[in-house]
Amino acid sequence: MKTLGHFIGGKAVGGKSGREGAIYNPATGEQQASVALASAAEVDATVAAAAAAFPEWAATPPLMRARVLFKFKEVLEKNRDEIARLITAEHGKTFEDAKGELVRGLEVVEFACGIPHLMKGEFTENVGRNIDSFSVRQPLGVVAGITPFNFPVMVPMWMFPVAIACGNTFVLKPSEKDPSPGLFLAQLALEAGLPAGVLNVVNGDKEAVDTILNHPKIQAVSFVGSTPIGEYVYKTGAASGKRVQALCGAKNHMVVMPDADMDQATDALMGAGYGSAGERCMAISVAVAVGKAGDALMERLVPKVQALKVGPGMDPASEMGPLVTKEHLAKVKGYIDLGIKEGAKLAVDGRGLKLQGYENGYFVGGTLFDEVKPDMRIYREEIFGPVLSVVRAKNFDEALKLVNDHEYGNGTAIFTRDGDSARTFQSQAQAGMVGVNVPIPVPMAFHSFGGWKRSIFGDRNAYGPEGVGFYTKLKTTTARWPTGLRAGAEFVMPTMK
Ligand code: NAD
Repeated sequence: MKTLGHFIGGKAVGGKSGREGAIYNPATGEQQASVALASAAEVDATVAAAAAAFPEWAATPPLMRARVLFKFKEVLEKNRDEIARLITAEHGKTFEDAKGELVRGLEVVEFACGIPHLMKGEFTENVGRNIDSFSVRQPLGVVAGITPFNFPVMVPMWMFPVAIACGNTFVLKPSEKDPSPGLFLAQLALEAGLPAGVLNVVNGDKEAVDTILNHPKIQAVSFVGSTPIGEYVYKTGAASGKRVQALCGAKNHMVVMPDADMDQATDALMGAGYGSAGERCMAISVAVAVGKAGDALMERLVPKVQALKVGPGMDPASEMGPLVTKEHLAKVKGYIDLGIKEGAKLAVDGRGLKLQGYENGYFVGGTLFDEVKPDMRIYREEIFGPVLSVVRAKNFDEALKLVNDHEYGNGTAIFTRDGDSARTFQSQAQAGMVGVNVPIPVPMAFHSFGGWKRSIFGDRNAYGPEGVGFYTKLKTTTARWPTGLRAGAEFVMPTMK
């Protein structure tokens, strides 16, 4: 059986720690490969390769760096199907959805191609008489990315295209559940002309993460994953003096007002609740039905959830694939059991799903709860599976309060035909990303992505202008040339006279 190693200094390198993790095919439940889990020494060697590549890459003009990214975009497009196949094989999501994931990552590469413009500084002539001031942004050095299983291509590509465009060198630590796509991306970047050592991949688990967080040569860490780990990464990384952005878990609410187009809202809930088997940080897991929207929605949702086509990701007929691991399947089924115990009304039960020929796959059918209450654990906690909870609210204010009282604040959406409700919601929702008749409002690459509350730690969002800010430091120079004023030593704060 194949064992995946690391990609260090432009070369595929085997693991030396003697520790490995198993990689399963979620559709069949069979182990298909192993992945090396790096020791601290292997992480150190990866950081050393990135540090060695930094001076030359940072000195490469931004336009030349952009040219490599243009080429990288071409190479990614050429390999689109192979990348998507790797995602489906290890993650389980449908092939079409995997291709969509790549496109959202590619958009960040397209954004990063504009780096000569994005890194342009500011200049002020005559901040004082004959004194000029200018600000430039400079790269940080070696930066690292720690990424989750659910977007093995898109999430790393939220990070490294912007980081390397800014002149940094990068160490990626992908999820050990689906590491192949990340390794393939690094190989393709090399093929596109990225110098060896600029983008490295080290596979591993907690040991690798802890080494990254405490490594003196790593200047900044971008993390995407669950809230408990993100909080730990933020605190540990910050305590060792690093810049950290940690994007975390979610429980995204979609408010459906009684005046909404109910068919449109139902379709939106189907895609946003069950796409990628609910394993998206921007999935809608709570529908807040206001007033008479409740019955209208349930009437439409139940038959659609029952008719969901669940199957292996490579089957073009599948609308939803399996969950990522056996443990995650057990966890999601456990939440369904819990919801029943807590008194929620189970309208569609996905637990009994059996697929002929895929009996050992990690499948669960679409599940729908009605009458879910805010004190239930199935409401409060992130399930990360195809389980949609419908909460009934009497009016707009009650719906907005639910959104705002929840501990997570990643994304939220409102479906309505009323501009007043939409505007008030957009303005007052305590969440980082808001959709108006758009269920998954993931910002495009030239905006930036990030939640509020316990969906993020750190104050800079991912990619877009925020990404450029995160991966660079500002330097402001104030300059006077000798032909200017010679007034002798000044012992008070300089002010304009
Ligand atoms: P996870 O937190 O288990 O893993 C994320 C990363 O942390 C992985 O690389 C993993 O190897 C590492 N890790 C895991 N346990 C660790 C430990 N004890 N110490 C140090 N490192 C550890 O997350 P996951 O299950 O891979 O991904 C799903 C989660 O990610 C969900 O909570 C989802 O909401 C979240 N997510 C958030 C966003 C966002 O942008 N907010 C995007 C995608 C996913």
